[in-house]
Amino acid sequence: MVDASLAGRRVLVCGFGVAGRSAARALLDRGASVALTTDTEPVDVPAGLDRLGALTAVPDGVDLVVASPGYPPTHPLLADAAARAVPVWGEVELAWQLRGPGAAPWLAITGTNGKTTTVRMLESILRAGGFRALAVGNVGEPLIDAVLADPPYDALAVELSSQQLHFAPSLAPAAGALLNLAPDHLTWHGSMDAYVEAKLQVWNGEVAIGNADDPIVAARMPAGAIGFTLDEPADGQLGVRDGQLVSRAFGDDGLALAGATGVRPAGRHNVANALAAAALARSIGVGAEAVAAGLHDFVPDPHRNQSVLVRDGIEWVDDSKATNPHAAAASLGAYRRIVWIAGGQLKGVAIDDLVAATAPRLVAAVLLGQDRAIIAASLARHAPDVPVIVVDSTDHGVMTEVVHAAADFARPGDTVLLAPAAASYDMFSGYGARGDAFAAAARALDGARS
Ligand code: ADP
Repeated sequence: MVDASLAGRRVLVCGFGVAGRSAARALLDRGASVALTTDTEPVDVPAGLDRLGALTAVPDGVDLVVASPGYPPTHPLLADAAARAVPVWGEVELAWQLRGPGAAPWLAITGTNGKTTTVRMLESILRAGGFRALAVGNVGEPLIDAVLADPPYDALAVELSSQQLHFAPSLAPAAGALLNLAPDHLTWHGSMDAYVEAKLQVWNGEVAIGNADDPIVAARMPAGAIGFTLDEPADGQLGVRDGQLVSRAFGDDGLALAGATGVRPAGRHNVANALAAAALARSIGVGAEAVAAGLHDFVPDPHRNQSVLVRDGIEWVDDSKATNPHAAAASLGAYRRIVWIAGGQLKGVAIDDLVAATAPRLVAAVLLGQDRAIIAASLARHAPDVPVIVVDSTDHGVMTEVVHAAADFARPGDTVLLAPAAASYDMFSGYGARGDAFAAAARALDGARS
């Protein structure tokens, strides 16, 4: 197939991960001539691609750059593209441009935290409503492949990161939801303002949906936007009334959608996620029964407030995906008496507000990882009565030591919660490996103590 807008264009693809590969394939299929640049040595490069190695300037003749999120706007190559007015598209922009006639509507979700959970909830709701739907974006298969699927999907639940939105200038999804905004990825964007501006792009389509309980989101909501709240909904909003998710938007007059207490994973933040998913589904006319059935059938992804063990009346919860203080605050808010396991790479984000807000519910804290001393100092300032164990070891067995320390503090009724508030790469291959190590160490306690 040859697409008029891409045929004959000379495109430079930057980065060759999963998305970069689909981008290159799709561009070649459309008759573009494609060159590839990577900062590391790429593997399995298909025939037809011109390999250029690492670059700091756009080669002459290139009229479009397609960049992976590994390339921040400050990368010399992208800075050069900007200086020479060569357009830069991310994978999302390319996928948006590749949509054919009758393409599936995009129901887009962004926010600092909760994106994956919400797109998965939405996917489950859409399927319960009889749609051939798929969660894509940062999850699942590459967005480009989903857009080009034959037969086409009925609807796509699209997770969008701030980096993806930054390089998606013409994106205008059928509906877009903004879950929350807190400092994150500031190094990539250069400032909080730039991060927020990127996120707001999710509202460039017909229906804007936003978290009315989040002050930064609420302050930026355009006229006519649909708000969602954990309180009683105002006219034009979705919210919670008598334990039910209720819609007063999209022409609904207090339509009950689903029970709030059945929402999984645990925590009010996940009720907010469910409201956002329900609003996106209602925006394309999905019925209340499908919202209830989809939320009921929803299977949360691992490492997100995942209960991994209940032993002697103590619940062990893996929320390793809480990789920033905003996520950890939501997570810690879901439990009453907590032995908190935290630490890793804070990425320069302040932790004091989180510690101060959580102090009354902390039984103890066990800290690990690169920035453990920063969290220990914050606990000393804001929770001086809470016992703290700092585990200095950085070798493989560290989680066993951490879990044993936590077990010594926990009493029946307590929750031992891994909600690190920090990234994992200082000691683990990712948040998944960190969570797995925690769950394995917790489950091994039985053997260790018998
Ligand atoms: P993302 O894809 O944005 O990283 P996830 O759905 O994977 O979001 O959730 C990541 C973590 O963020 C969860 O483990 C939880 O700690 C926290 N979280 C989830 N939803 C919210 C929310 N609405 N507000 C704040 N924190 C949240």
